[in-house]
Formats: sequence, C-alpha cells, structure tokens
Amino acid sequence: MLEVLHRIVQEVSAATSLEAALKVIVTRVKGAIGADVCSIYLTNFEERTHVLMATDGLRQEAVGKVRLPLGRGLVGLVAERAEPVNEADAPSHPRYLRISDTGEQQYHGFLGVPIIQNRRVLGVVVARQVEPRQFGDAEVTFLFTLAAQLAGAITFAQASGELTGLQQAGETFNRFLQGRPGSPGVGIGTIVVAYRLADLDAVPDRKTDDVAGESDAFRAAVAAVEDDLRRLKGHLSEDLPAEDRALFDALLLMLGSDTLVTRTIALIEQGSWAAGALRRTIEEHAKVFDVMEDVYLRERASDIRDLGRRILMHLQSDAPRTVDYPPHTILVGEEVSAMQLAEVPKDRLAGIVSASGSSSSHVAIFARAIGVPAVMGVTDLPVARAEGLEAIIDGYRGRVHVSPAATVREEYRRLALEEQALSRELEPLRGLPAETTDGVHVPLYLNTGLVNEMLHLGAEEAEGVGLYRTEMPFMVRDRFPGESVQVANYRNVIKTFAPRPVVLRTLDIGGDKPLPYFPVSESNPFLGWRGVRISLSHPEIFLTQVRAMLRAAIGFQNLRILLPMVSTVAEVEELQQLIQRAHDELIEEGFAISKPSVGVMVEVPSAVYLAEELARRVEFLSIGTNDLTQYILAVDRNNPHVADLYDDMHPAVLRALQQVVDGARLYHRSVSVCGELAGNPLAAVLLVGMGVESLSMSAGSLLKVKWAVRSFSRSRARQLLQVALRMEDARQVRRFMEGVFAEVGLGGLVGPAGTH
Ligand code: PEP
Ligand code: MG
Repeated sequence: MLEVLHRIVQEVSAATSLEAALKVIVTRVKGAIGADVCSIYLTNFEERTHVLMATDGLRQEAVGKVRLPLGRGLVGLVAERAEPVNEADAPSHPRYLRISDTGEQQYHGFLGVPIIQNRRVLGVVVARQVEPRQFGDAEVTFLFTLAAQLAGAITFAQASGELTGLQQAGETFNRFLQGRPGSPGVGIGTIVVAYRLADLDAVPDRKTDDVAGESDAFRAAVAAVEDDLRRLKGHLSEDLPAEDRALFDALLLMLGSDTLVTRTIALIEQGSWAAGALRRTIEEHAKVFDVMEDVYLRERASDIRDLGRRILMHLQSDAPRTVDYPPHTILVGEEVSAMQLAEVPKDRLAGIVSASGSSSSHVAIFARAIGVPAVMGVTDLPVARAEGLEAIIDGYRGRVHVSPAATVREEYRRLALEEQALSRELEPLRGLPAETTDGVHVPLYLNTGLVNEMLHLGAEEAEGVGLYRTEMPFMVRDRFPGESVQVANYRNVIKTFAPRPVVLRTLDIGGDKPLPYFPVSESNPFLGWRGVRISLSHPEIFLTQVRAMLRAAIGFQNLRILLPMVSTVAEVEELQQLIQRAHDELIEEGFAISKPSVGVMVEVPSAVYLAEELARRVEFLSIGTNDLTQYILAVDRNNPHVADLYDDMHPAVLRALQQVVDGARLYHRSVSVCGELAGNPLAAVLLVGMGVESLSMSAGSLLKVKWAVRSFSRSRARQLLQVALRMEDARQVRRFMEGVFAEVGLGGLVGPAGTH
C-alpha cells in the first residue's frame, strides 16, 4: 500500500495542471480501494460551495457543474467535521443529499475524507459503492493518509495551471504564494527564470573511442567555467567583502580539485564520453551532501550540481547563454544559486524568489548583503511557468504575488511610497540623541557581520556595534580562518567604530548555522552541539578566535566579547579561564593587549533563571530574543509549519526579559537586547520601560527605533509595560502597542514596513 501511496503522490506532484492532478487521484484511488466511483470536491471559499472537480465513475458532464453549498449533504458533513465519514448505506443518513446531475441515486457505500491544509478544508475525496459497503479500516486509513499528503501537491498543480492561463491570456491572479522572508523589502518587476543552464540529469551514458578528444573537451570546459567564476566574482566585488566572495574561491577550488577532474578523466579513460563521465562524477559528489541533515550542507550539493551544469553547458556549446534582463528583474528559480544571482546586472535586480531554500541559504545571505528583497521556500511556485510575468515580492512577509490585480499593485505601490515617505520623515532624526522625552539616554547599537549593514547609515548612526556575528566569515570559507585572517577582519570593525564599543560574539555555529567543513549531524540541532558548547569541546578554535579578537583591539579600548548559547554557570567560568589564558599567552608573546569586558548572551530559558548568577560573573548581559523566543515557545525559528506560533512579543517572552533585567540590576550590570525584537519600534518602547539599557539592531531599524524612543517618556514606557505584561497573548500586546503608536502619531512605524 505504501508503494501505491508514494506513486500517487509523486504523480500528483508532477502534474502540470489542477485538472491533471485530480484526474490522477480519482483514477488511482478508485483502483486501489476497489470502489465503483471516486470523486473530488474542492471548496470554493468565496462562493461557499463544494465543487465537483473530478470523478471516475460519475458522469463527466457533471464536473464543474455540481456545486454543493457548504454544510450540505455528506460531503458537507466531512468538511464540517474535518473528519472521515464512512457510511454503509448513505441514503439512510439524515444528511444525505441526492444530486440528480451525477446519477448517484443508486450508490449506497460512502467514504469521504477531507483534504486539509493549515487547518482549512480544501476539499473532500469521496469513494462510492453501488452496493451497501462499510469501507474497511485499511481503505479508510489509506485514503486518510493519502489525503493528508495531497494538499501541497494540489495547490502546486492549481498554481501551475493558473500561471499557464496567465501567460496565455494575460489575466491577473488574485492570490499570493506563501514562502519565507529571505531579505526584507518590496520588489516589483518582471520575472526572469533562472533555469538550469544544462540538464545534467538528462545526459545519457554513451561510449567513446576518442578518449583524447573527450578529455581535451572536458578540460577546456573546466577552464571556461573557471573564467566564468572569476568574471562573476569580479561582478560582486564592489558589494561584498572578501569573505563573502570566498564562496567563489571555494567553487574554484572544487573545480580544480583532484576528486572532480581526476575522477571524470578516469571515467573518460574507461570509455565514457565526457558529458556522461561528468554527470556520474557530479552525482557521486552531490549525493554525499544530499543525504545530510544540515540545511547548509545540503546547499553544497546544489553548488556542486550548479558547477556540473556549467561545465556541461560549455561541453555542449561554446557560448554561455545571454539573457536580456529587464530593468526591474525578479529572479525566480527552483533553487536560485549565488552564481545565477551574480549574472544579473546589479542595477536591474529588483527581487529574488527561490522555490526551495531558507533564510540561511547562500542566496538569502547574499540578498541581504546587497539589500535586495528575497522570498525563500515558495514550494507552491511552478517556476517553469512564471517567465515573463509581472510579480510583486514582499520580503517582509514572505509573499509572492504573480500577475497581481491592479488593487494589489496599488497596495504595494502605496507601501513603497509609504516606505519612501517614512524614510523622508526619519531623515531629520539623523545625528539626534536616542533619548526619551524625560532625558533617559538609550544607546542604539548596530547588529552586523555583513558588509552592507556597516556602511553609511550604520556606521554614522549607531553608537557602537552591539552584536558582531563572527560566523559569517567562517561560513563562506572552506576551512577555519586562521588567526591573522580573523585579526584583519575584527580590526576592521573595531577601528571603524572606535572609540564606540564593539561587541564581538564568539563563534555561534551549529543549529541553523553549520559550517561546510565541520559537519555536525544531529536530529535536533537547535538542542544540540552549538555556540559555546562547541567552543568548550574545541578550545583550540575558541582560543584562536579570542586571540584574534584581543590582537585586533590593540591600540583601542572598545572591545567587548560576548558568549552565545550559555546555559550553565560552569560554561561561563571555563570560558573565562580560556579568555584569561589567551590574554596571558599574548602578553607573554609581547603583545600590548588590554583586558576586554566579557558578557553573556541570554538566549535559553536556563540563562533567564540564572540571570543573577551569570550577572555576578560577567560585565554585561545581552538578550538574544531570536533564540530565546524559539526556546521559550518551543517553536523552531526556521520552520514554516509553525511560523504562526513564533512571536517575540509573546507575554511569556516579555516576562522572561523582565526577570533578566531584574537579575542583572542586583549586580548593577547593564542589559542589552540584540535579537530582532530590539529593532521593532513597538517592542523597543516596552524594553525601555523594562529598564533595558541599550538596544542593538540592523541598520535599517536604527532611525525607526530612535523615533519611537524619542516619542515617549520613561515613565510612560513603564506604564505601557505594566499593561502589556498582564496580557495573555502576543496579538493582544501588538494590537495594544499599535493603538498607542497610532494615538501619538507614530502610525507610520506600524505595519510590515515599520515592524519588519
Ligand atoms: C538571537 O538569538 O537573538 C541572536 C541575536 O542571535 P542569532 O540570531 O545570531 O542566533
Ligand atoms: Mg542566537
């Protein structure tokens, strides 16, 4: 049965229209459970009807015509209960409804199962039997299991058919496709599909007699790809720092590696033609990464395949494809690669949409670095049918509107104008102090680690760096960076901001930030080996990093070191000893270093309860609300299935923050918030009320938060906090603060653009 189930789901997923998908389902289900009829009704939410969309057994003319009002008949009962209904003799059921159009009067056995997506009943699959028949457990569970997997495939097929219609008829599409935010902002433009340059999977096995000729062709193709990569790297050089460009170096290295070239040549020497040998080599390599649990490592498989396709393209023809990119290009792909992104002239790129991937994918990292909106993981997007269509992408909410109706376009134009108006309104705040109306100074710091966040506004506006995420330069390399590379890196930021404080966080890998060259395979990475847990098991990595930080700060007095993912007091004590050791060694080696202040990130629940004990041991605490929220609410911060439950304004989170502030106060230690919450103006006011001393955020939030801070007194912020702390859910807190903001004329800071 499992086999049959898999096959049906696969066939449905491959269907190119809703009609084709539903046809597969009814035919296959009818056969699999030996029913006389199988039909599918889909819910039309606007019309409030269930529409017969496909049938195997009833009259075909009835398809599209039979419409059952919601709540009527046995189909209505299935949808209403969102549960299977299994009736041996349907006509004797009080809810039975006879529909003459389908000629169904002679059917007795009835089994209906709902198709559900995100709690909504999208439709009902119905099996019928002429004779009275109570469907058995095996049939019920089969249909039930199948239906649970169908919703995604049906919505994909539906979008696919609709997009084809759009391309042919130029109509508009009145809904949006949901993905995950990859990079904030709104992009409006024309879709260009970043399709596979060459289809490696389609290359057949073929024999050759001309080993020398095939080897030469392969080597020439590799050389050509090397040239391409260097050219693309050159394209990016203005926007990205050396460490980000290191991805291209890693690809170049892979190209030149023995494993790739030698293995392919060996296969050619065994008699395979170059393209076939290449396909086998690339597949062998990519498969190793494909099976890995880590998102980041799986991404490497796509890098390898992308390389393979590029080589194949050169094997197949000499000229790389040239694309005419429209002035506002929305680049769309199954899995957009960093290289495809680099192909688009920078001034023409309005947005990026990737059907797969997440915010930790390479392409999302690049998009944020160059400030282009991106939406990731749009699984319902039929990429191949989207070329040339107009699209609006909403990088705040992770939405893609294809061929939007005029009203939607208007709404986003308005949003874009509002964003511009807001920027103009914020402009005069530059250089003004971040002070409450009663004179409490709340330093606003910058979260960085990516180059664009440090440029212009950030460097001018921020009173320092509150969080420098050091893992970025580690992630884009193919090995751990050495001490001197790290010194150069940290010195850059320390010098740029001196004498303003710079908080460098020690390596926080693991969780959703694995390193390609340091594989960690765990079933629960967020509860596993991450942050300081790795530092403590690999003191050599930690010591190298701390030495680099201390050396980078020579001549400046602004370095602070921050320890991520601390969950016990013992961790802090051991790490402090290691920092002391690095310090003593450097002094012995003759470096004129000074002692940095050390702080702890509070981002797991145990650290909240230990705030007092931690504060006693270190100079400052910094609250990482991104992780703290996921751990307090038990919601994976990257999982779209539970994204609705993730809310950092949840009263449980706010109450935890208050506890941290109170704990630190006993030892007169300062508390900062460096998670996304600090950059949300609504929350910033509550944090000020709580007694949080400084806030650290990305550059784009600095002026917005400053405006909010300057609009309230500390005592008003305290009152608002008291009200918020008594609330029971996050939505209530948000609505309350939105109301307050509207009252004081800060309505412009609310909404997707204002609250990111
Ligand atoms: C956090 O967890 O809130 C935080 C600032 O760190 P990161 O987002 O890098 O995990
Ligand atoms: Mg964190």
